[in-house]
Amino acid sequence: MVLINNAVCAYIHFFCFFVHTERASLPRNMIENSMFEEEPDVVDLAKDSTAFPGFPALDPDEVVYEPRSSRLLVRGLGENDLDDEEEDYESSARLLGMSFMNRSSARSPSSSPYTRQAPPRSCSCPSTRKLVVGVFILVLVSSMAMALYFLPGCTFTKAGCHKDNSSTPIEPVYPNSTTGEPFPWNEPRLPASVRPVNYNLSLTPNLTSKTFTGRTVINMMIQHDTKRVVLHSSDLNITKATFQVGKDKSVEVKVLEYKPWQLIAVSFPEDLKAGQVCVLTLEYKANLSNTYDGFYNSSYNDVTGAKRVLAATQFEPQAARKAFPCFDEPAFKATFLVRITREPEYITLSNMPKAKTTTLPSGLLEDEFEQTSVNMSTYLVAFIVANFTSVSRNVSNTLVSVYSVAEKKEHTHYALDAASKLLQFYNTIFDVDYPLRKLDLVAIPDFLAGAMENWGLITFRETTLLVGNQSSPLDKQLVANVVAHELAHQWFGNLVTMRWWNDLWLSEGFATYWQYTSLTTVFPQLYPGDEFLEVRFKAMAKDSLNSTHSVSVSSQMTSPEDVLEMFDSVTYEKGASLLLMLNSTLPDGQFRKGLIEYLNKYRGSNSVTDDLWNSLTQVCQESVSDMMRTWTLQKGFPLVTVSCKDGQVNLTQEPFLLSRENTTHTSSCLLVSCSAGSSALYFVSLLATLKVSDSVKWLKLNYMNTGFYIVHYGVEGWAALINTLKTDISSFTAHDRASLIHNMFALSRLGRVSFPQVLSLLGYLTKETETAPLKEALSQLSSVYRLLDKRPDPYLVSRMKGYILNLFGPLINSLDWGEEQSVSRQELRSALFEMACGLGQENCTDQAKVLYDQRTNSTQPKIIPGDLERVVFSVAAQSDSGWLSLLEAYGHTTYDSEKRKILQALASTQDTRRIVWILNAGLQGSIIQTQELPLLIGTVSDGFAGHLFVWNFVKENWDSIIEKFPLGSYPIQSIIKSTTSQFSTQMHLEEVQGFFSGLKERGHPMRSVQEALETIRLNQDWMDRNLPALRQSL
Ligand SMILES: [Zn+2]
Repeated sequence: MVLINNAVCAYIHFFCFFVHTERASLPRNMIENSMFEEEPDVVDLAKDSTAFPGFPALDPDEVVYEPRSSRLLVRGLGENDLDDEEEDYESSARLLGMSFMNRSSARSPSSSPYTRQAPPRSCSCPSTRKLVVGVFILVLVSSMAMALYFLPGCTFTKAGCHKDNSSTPIEPVYPNSTTGEPFPWNEPRLPASVRPVNYNLSLTPNLTSKTFTGRTVINMMIQHDTKRVVLHSSDLNITKATFQVGKDKSVEVKVLEYKPWQLIAVSFPEDLKAGQVCVLTLEYKANLSNTYDGFYNSSYNDVTGAKRVLAATQFEPQAARKAFPCFDEPAFKATFLVRITREPEYITLSNMPKAKTTTLPSGLLEDEFEQTSVNMSTYLVAFIVANFTSVSRNVSNTLVSVYSVAEKKEHTHYALDAASKLLQFYNTIFDVDYPLRKLDLVAIPDFLAGAMENWGLITFRETTLLVGNQSSPLDKQLVANVVAHELAHQWFGNLVTMRWWNDLWLSEGFATYWQYTSLTTVFPQLYPGDEFLEVRFKAMAKDSLNSTHSVSVSSQMTSPEDVLEMFDSVTYEKGASLLLMLNSTLPDGQFRKGLIEYLNKYRGSNSVTDDLWNSLTQVCQESVSDMMRTWTLQKGFPLVTVSCKDGQVNLTQEPFLLSRENTTHTSSCLLVSCSAGSSALYFVSLLATLKVSDSVKWLKLNYMNTGFYIVHYGVEGWAALINTLKTDISSFTAHDRASLIHNMFALSRLGRVSFPQVLSLLGYLTKETETAPLKEALSQLSSVYRLLDKRPDPYLVSRMKGYILNLFGPLINSLDWGEEQSVSRQELRSALFEMACGLGQENCTDQAKVLYDQRTNSTQPKIIPGDLERVVFSVAAQSDSGWLSLLEAYGHTTYDSEKRKILQALASTQDTRRIVWILNAGLQGSIIQTQELPLLIGTVSDGFAGHLFVWNFVKENWDSIIEKFPLGSYPIQSIIKSTTSQFSTQMHLEEVQGFFSGLKERGHPMRSVQEALETIRLNQDWMDRNLPALRQSL
């Protein structure tokens, strides 16, 4: 089959059609656009309002400080007309045909009939004109609102009910600060009236007492007249505060604090005037954090067994405020100058190169770093005090260094090489050079996330940065992936930053996309394409649930838990998948051109999703916005159904939703790639009528699965595809075969195909040799097996086991246990051996035992190939002696990747006493680092012996767990998912529901809990539907 590549489709239009015909038969963006045409100034005002690049276009300060009546107009109408997805001030205003007064319109407030009210110096009565306008709109909204706000002799204010409201100003309700005085701000987001320009940070950590003192000098610019400066601070004990206006004398000021929102504020009797430059200086002391965020302390044992300590930072998303008072939102970019005091035995690192070191009278040394040459968001600031060594290389005017503890220095070379090559690749592909003079990559012995992209000072877990010469290519693949991801962030995330966390995908979706795309060019031998395909399947699994979210969510999201929950598979992997889909439908080169335009336009500032689409639209001359908004503003993805009659092919789409829900979906703008038996590849719109000749025996949509949708071919269509797979496997690429397997299982979960149909497709696997389809089949069958394994039906479980071993048996027997160079083959054999040994196939377990013996009991110990370590260790861990010897090895091993494999093996034991021990050790944190607890819980959950115990363990230790991992964070999402996703009974559903609803304030309503409950219900349904068929077919 000859495939037409994208370049042939040089003239592409995006076709949309809409299946729902209610009021919203036009997509929302079209409704808005039609209003824009009538009120073009509204658009311009919103855009032009940026007084400096990247600053929020609309000013929440002014919204909140409007007199109550006009505030109600904006919010009340907005809520009536909009759903949650778009209920921000901007869209509220657009739908109302209103324009907000902003920095440009403030100078000519008469430019629109409806303007935002200026911040009240004192709450005066609305003017007659404003009243008329207000009353007019209020009548439209609700006579109730009028009654409440204008007619009765009582207005709701902080002070309670006033009889005479005709002359009483209406004040917003302020919360109480820690001292009992009113806190002068009543929103969790910061006002936009003050902008930080530069921070001067001096920090003195004491690694013995685990405390630090700090002095933060913030130079700021007043944007609008205001009587307050509001910023973030969390767990900092502020001992002194001074404030200086312009060249006036600095005066001591009082700082008020409102802890629930981690805000502090300074109030002034007179207005600070727009344009004034002010300096706020804060001195404070605090404890180094004992969790994994903020400025935290950590310890590790060196090669001699001696305990070493270090202090490092992890600020994303909202923990910079734990290290220094700051405007801790991504849009408040500024420059930073950092000074850190240390004892002579340590080194310090920060974002910029070191400028000088001064010896203090106390004998301590003070390192001063150059002021950042770029404006950056607070979450990208970083500093480390530790005892590390490094290797370095110059790459295109940037000094690239990799740091580690001294004894692991020889494990840093691979990362240095990978980082150097990738930096050159990105410099070229983005056509914008990395802007700093140095780039440090640091392996931190105790680090929760995989890695963090702090500008110029990227921090990693040891596993994701350090590999030795002996490490397997799979371990190297992990390092290359993570380095590629973090380096991509230096552009997407650091240079151009999302305005708020609701658009986190602009950072994480891009970094994930570029991670695979860069490796395809720089390290093709690592087969990044297979991994990217798996990632897309994974994103679809999450995105087919009601509990999922759109890639770009409402900017109204403010709680820290909601922000943390944005770090999930939808933001990362669906985001990356949508970029891949877009790139594959645009003419060659256009995607890159559009991105270069976007990077240049927004470099050094902030963006929202529409800015990206607009840049692409500008370059591609196609309405990328129209197409992509249907993908980023609504959750889920389409199911495309193919039906064929008399040579005429019809394509239809509907939302692919595993649970029924009563919301309206706008159809996605979709261009499907289509290959047919006649060996050609077309791009077709769903509106197109496709005719095929009689000689065409089959039709396969979604070439290489680059589109984010699932295809159903109907009974006959599937039968034709299955027949072709069995007779001529090479008719499809390996990724197309994997895609067919994935789609078939997804349709089975949806109830559109029967399980015998699934088994019929899998029949072709006896001829399959490629990694991608085999791994997909294995992963799907494993999840079915794990579900069955947790049900009281051992007979069915053993038949399922027999089926799987039978299907893959010949292939497993053909694989050997020696050294293997191909990464793809390594991935395949490790997955197959892990499955076979996990199911107790004797050939497999015997061979694994031999390898373990050769490593431990031989006079000449043999090295186990890296890709087989985990399976060999897991088999060994099932015996008493093996488990104990592994536990001992865990204490000695220096390779972090080997340590993790040993840990997984230890947790795979089916001995319940050991399961209890290891989970407690993970929670306690001395023998096993607490950062590994989610891994332990996940491994135990998969096994039969511990799956119920581990759920009880999580329930009993919930408070301790959320002390270490904040609510909503990725570890918490992962713990909830792994402990509940294999339940499939009503009893477990009620138990999980009961536990989380009983948590109250210790369990913020989390999306991952909704996901868990939905998954259990779906498991129940699947079992009800398929158990009879399984009993019959297996
Ligand atoms: Zn990232």
